[in-house]
Amino acid sequence: MRYGLAIDIEYCTGCNSCNIACKQEHGYDAGTFGMKVTELIYPGVAEKVQIDFLPFATTRCNLCAERVSGGEDTLPSCVRHCQGKCMAYGDENALFEAAKKMKRPVMYLK
Ligand code: SF4
Ligand code: SF4
Repeated sequence: MRYGLAIDIEYCTGCNSCNIACKQEHGYDAGTFGMKVTELIYPGVAEKVQIDFLPFATTRCNLCAERVSGGEDTLPSCVRHCQGKCMAYGDENALFEAAKKMKRPVMYLK
């Protein structure tokens, strides 16, 4: 069974808490990412623009294996600290169920 993350980008605010939580959990420096949040800017109408944020789990993401394997918390650090409450963690079946309830889900399976 594969495990991973599902993120509803409809509700991602681009706050970068997931990125920072990952850095703190793993001791990454400023230029190293387990989770990288990318800003996508679209031209809009009436002088408005639309901005999407896409959190991307990089190859450094190990789904917080040590943290979730019976430590103090059962959630990966990024999921625990997500300010938009738009992240889910679990096995692929649970994630597909979670994604069905999301408006614009993206999923990362390891
Ligand atoms: S699951 Fe853990 S390792 Fe992966 S991006 Fe989130 S905090 Fe980083
Ligand atoms: S912590 Fe949540 S809301 Fe903030 S950037 Fe990451 S996924 Fe988006």
